[in-house]
Parts: sequence; structure tokens; C-alpha cells
Amino acid sequence: EVLLAIESSCDETAAAVIDCDLNVLSSVIATQDELHQRFGGVVPEIASRAHLSNILPVIDEALRKSERKLEDLSAIAVMTQPGLVGSLLVGLTAAKTLALVLNKPLVAVNHIHAHLYACQMIAEEEIFPAVGLVVSGGHTNLYDCRSTTEYELVGSTIDDAAGEAFDKAAAMLGLPYPGGPHIARVAQQGNPKAFRFPRTFIKDERLAFSFSGIKTSMRYTALGQPGAREEPLPLTEQRIADLSASYQEAIVDVLIAKCHQAAKKFGRKSLCVGGGVAANQRFRERLDELQEREGIQVTIAPMSLCTDNAAMGAIAWELLKQGDIADLDVDVTPGLVRHRS
Ligand code: ATP
Ligand code: MG
Ligand code: FE
Repeated sequence: EVLLAIESSCDETAAAVIDCDLNVLSSVIATQDELHQRFGGVVPEIASRAHLSNILPVIDEALRKSERKLEDLSAIAVMTQPGLVGSLLVGLTAAKTLALVLNKPLVAVNHIHAHLYACQMIAEEEIFPAVGLVVSGGHTNLYDCRSTTEYELVGSTIDDAAGEAFDKAAAMLGLPYPGGPHIARVAQQGNPKAFRFPRTFIKDERLAFSFSGIKTSMRYTALGQPGAREEPLPLTEQRIADLSASYQEAIVDVLIAKCHQAAKKFGRKSLCVGGGVAANQRFRERLDELQEREGIQVTIAPMSLCTDNAAMGAIAWELLKQGDIADLDVDVTPGLVRHRS
């Protein structure tokens, strides 16, 4: 049996065909990075228009690559939250139409839960219960995951997401958008101890993150303090590398500390990590270290399922098993539904 999953929550139009053993038969992603590059961030109106022109070709391509036809599908899954309202609506409308025409169940998927479920897709055994971290462009969320589908939000950022902090810092350093992968690339030539960036809340008992301080700190260090008498030092290649390495290290330090803290707090021996920033090589190394040092079983989403994709919509198989089928009048939920502050 195979299902079609559709993702259009932000600025990636994606579709995938996944079988009930979680094999990804096809995964097609149309990124809009080039369209948003000159604005340094996603412009919602541009995003929804691009989704409109991409959605049908992307679905078509996913079916073609999977060598399946519409009639072969057992269900249609779609990410209905969280995200940009206009973007989400494009995917949902396509999914509803297919479900109606094919008379197949529609499954509404939470995009952030799907980021975590991506970890299960490569695991040999069930990874839940676990604590989960979703660290992406829009979210830095900690979850206590009781089962494959019951994820309770137990901590999040009070301001920027970690991915956003990477993107904003990259822009200050003159690196392309989205900046996370570029910071990671130039950091390889840099000294992570060259600059001391803040590690906000690292010793705080609360499971909370804040990345606006480190962002400001980067601005002052790289571009100079407002009203300062001295000019900032020129942004040479080496200085950019050192700033990137130090910045990355500070963010990774915080993420590692909070994962460890959450695992202890909820008495979990399993940790899963997903979202775009989980693609960061330094972060992955440090997660391996955490696993070795603390005896926590760490599962990181595979690289292909870290940044936005539709294949992680495979969580729909779990929802289907539970009879969690959406009505055809289901709506999008742009904001993240908070279960606990
Ligand atoms: P959300 O999932 O919260 O709605 P999103 O869908 O925009 O947000 P993702 O596609 O999951 O986010 O992740 C994109 C983010 O991941 C960007 O901020 C990007 O800079 C960051 N990112 C991608 N690769 C890396 C990397 N190697 N190192 C650091 N950050 C990275
Ligand atoms: Mg994106
Ligand atoms: Fe995402």
C-alpha cells in the first residue's frame, strides 16, 4: 500500500509517495530559495503564489518517480499546521481535491511532528517514548514524545528559532540565504574559541531557548556597536570563518545542553532530533558525543529528511492506524498549537 504526502507549509512545495513499510518511493521538493533570497527571508505572498504554480507539477513528478498512479494511492496526507496560511492552503486544497475525487481518506499532519517522525523512518526499532527536539527555521521546540504520535510540547524559544539565528547571522556576514549551511561551511576553517558568544539559558532550569541575544552579539562584533568610536575590524575571510565557528559552537552548546536536560527531566533514554538545523554537521557530531557520554540513544533525522520535505508525512500511516482521518472541511492551523507553556 502507498500514500501520497503533500507539504507546502512554508517555502518548499513537496510531494512524496511512501509505502506502509516507510519506504520512500519518491520525494520531490521544489524550493523557492531563489525567489526569497533578495529579501533575506520568506515573503508569504510570493510563497503562496509559487506554491500555486508548483503544486501540480510536483505531485505529478512524485507519482511518476514512484511509478504509481493516482488509483494506487490508499490515502492522501497533507501538512495542515503550522506554517503560513496562504502556503498551507495550497497544499490542503490539492489534497482535499484528490481525496474527494479518488474517494480516499485524507490525513492531516502536523509539520513539526513530521520533522520528529523523520527519525523513526530510519530507525530499526521503535524510538518512542523519547524526548524530541525540532530545530528549524521557524521553531526550536522540545517535546516529550510518549508514543509514535503523542508529542507534548515541553519547551520552546521565547524569541528567534535557531535556524533563524543562523540565517540572520549569515546575512550580516554577507553569506547567501538560507544561511545555515553557509555558516556551517565557512566554520570549518574557523576557530570556535575565537569569540565568546552568549549561551542564553544554558544553566537555566526552564526548558526554554532564546537566540535574539546571540544575534545582537554577532551584529555588534561583526558590524560594530552603534555609537562606537572605533570602526569594526574588516570582515576578512578568516574573521568570517572564526565568527561563524564561534557562533555555531555557541548555538550547538545550548541545543545539546537542553536536549540532555530534557532527557533527564522526563527520564527518557531515547532522544530524536529533526528539522533543518539537524543537518548541521557539528551538531550531529556533538549529538554523537552526547550519546556516548550519557548513554542516551540518539536518533537524528537523515539528511534528506531534515529540511522541509513531504516524505516525513509518512507519520500519516500511524494516524491512519489510529483511525485519525480528517473531514473534508478540515482547515489549516497556521500557528503552532501550544499544549503547555
Ligand atoms: P519550520 O519547520 O519551523 O516551519 P522551516 O520549514 O523553514 O521552518 P526547515 O526547512 O526545517 O525549516 O529548516 C530550514 C532551516 O534550517 C534554515 O533556517 C536553515 O538555515 C537551517 N539549516 C539548514 N541546514 C543547516 C546547517 N547545515 N546548519 C545550520 N542550519 C541549517
Ligand atoms: Mg525553506
Ligand atoms: Fe520545517
